[in-house]
Amino acid sequence: MLHALNVAKFGGTSVANYQAINNCAKIVVGNQNTRVVVVSAAAGITNHLVLLANTALTSEQISEVIDNIRKIELAILNSLKKPSEVEDKLFSLLDELEVYARHEELNFRDDLKDALLSMGERMSSLLVAAIIREHGEEAINFDVRKVMRTDDRFSEATPDIETIGKLSQQLLYPELKKAIVVTQGFIGSDVQGRTTTLGRGGSDFTAALLAEALGAKTCEIWTDVIGVYTTDPRITDKAKPLPELSFEEAAEMATFGAKVLHPATMEPALRQDIKVFVGSSKEPEKGGTWIVRDCKHEPPYRAVTRRKDQVLVTIKTPKMMYAQGFLERVFHIIAKHDLSVDLITTSEIAVSFTLDNPPNSMSEKMNKETLLELSEICEVKVERDYDVVTVVGNNMHSAAGVSSRIFAAVADFNLRMICFGANVHNLSFVVDKNDSDEVVKALHASLFE
Ligand code: ADP
Ligand code: ASP
Ligand code: MG
Repeated sequence: MLHALNVAKFGGTSVANYQAINNCAKIVVGNQNTRVVVVSAAAGITNHLVLLANTALTSEQISEVIDNIRKIELAILNSLKKPSEVEDKLFSLLDELEVYARHEELNFRDDLKDALLSMGERMSSLLVAAIIREHGEEAINFDVRKVMRTDDRFSEATPDIETIGKLSQQLLYPELKKAIVVTQGFIGSDVQGRTTTLGRGGSDFTAALLAEALGAKTCEIWTDVIGVYTTDPRITDKAKPLPELSFEEAAEMATFGAKVLHPATMEPALRQDIKVFVGSSKEPEKGGTWIVRDCKHEPPYRAVTRRKDQVLVTIKTPKMMYAQGFLERVFHIIAKHDLSVDLITTSEIAVSFTLDNPPNSMSEKMNKETLLELSEICEVKVERDYDVVTVVGNNMHSAAGVSSRIFAAVADFNLRMICFGANVHNLSFVVDKNDSDEVVKALHASLFE
């Protein structure tokens, strides 16, 4: 049975309420290879928890947010056929949540914030396991923190692949023979046993990591769209679902903003050649996208993505013309703060690059420290309110006419920066955030419609 093991992950909207979870349970019991189920927090819960963790709220405001969370969880609990089986556990998780939410050091301690953020996934895994049991299958709720070892970079922890592999074989694999294991996405624990999280949207990454650790053949990402599209279907209704994608294309799309997959999801899949499926838990009959190593077609244009919340940093020093090693010092500072620079252009006296800067993120905090340190060695200019729009494809720099068609499509827009050539899979533009919807639509119309 386990030779074709499948790991199925269900996102926030898929586990938003009893009815939605029921659809997930049908998908799980309908495939006997699915022995591991990874779940997100119910839709909206993590946003409520982030609000509690990052805002100084009055006691009444805290009560209000907790009430909203309680309502969502209790609505699911009260729809269960046998709520009494799990209600004590759910109530104790809600109590634990309240303790963190009211902790006086919460707003200053990253470890407490992650402990609080983990509560959404911990509650939904309990409820999802109960609903799968209603479909007549044995299902247990497994605490992923026993196997998902990470470093202690709270809010954006890095998984320790080797240890996760060993612990999963020891502690998780034996369970699969007895029952369907329902576990939490997004969360992990450091070597001291403190709860960590993998960054927003991290449940996809968890599913791929567990698939790798358990030697799974496939990993399904069940969400609210019927696959990966040519662009975010929320930007244009002309977006089309893609039947097939390569690991490289999917990784590029995820890195450059296709929120349907967490950016790191493809790493384990690529390492172990695990086929990844993306589909809708509401409409599983509509099929979805298969992400595989070798695709039948590798078209020059595959998709258009958009990544929000970018800052554009330009550093300048008149000395750059003469001083060797300046760039080395700059990148030493960037690397020290663990930031990754995706888009970069240089001239003789200046370097411009983009940094991800989502509000309330670890990156935002690190960016501030990095820029402060850079300003000690050079002139630093920071421009905000940019998005990056990317065309993802194949062999883009070698095929004739590929880039000129893209440039023609965006001829009417102000392009603050262009990056092309370093990677055969992408051509990116930095544009004003107010233009990015239109830039995506123009590119999509020209390349796909
Ligand atoms: P989940 O909660 O299931 O993880 P997400 O909201 O994280 O779901 O991801 C699904 C959403 O990703 C879709 O509703 C869609 O708006 C967005 N998205 C962005 N780019 C794409 C794309 N290229 N294809 C499909 N969905 C996309
Ligand atoms: N619940 C987490 C979030 O909202 C993780 C996830 O959904 O993947 O970011
Ligand atoms: Mg997601």
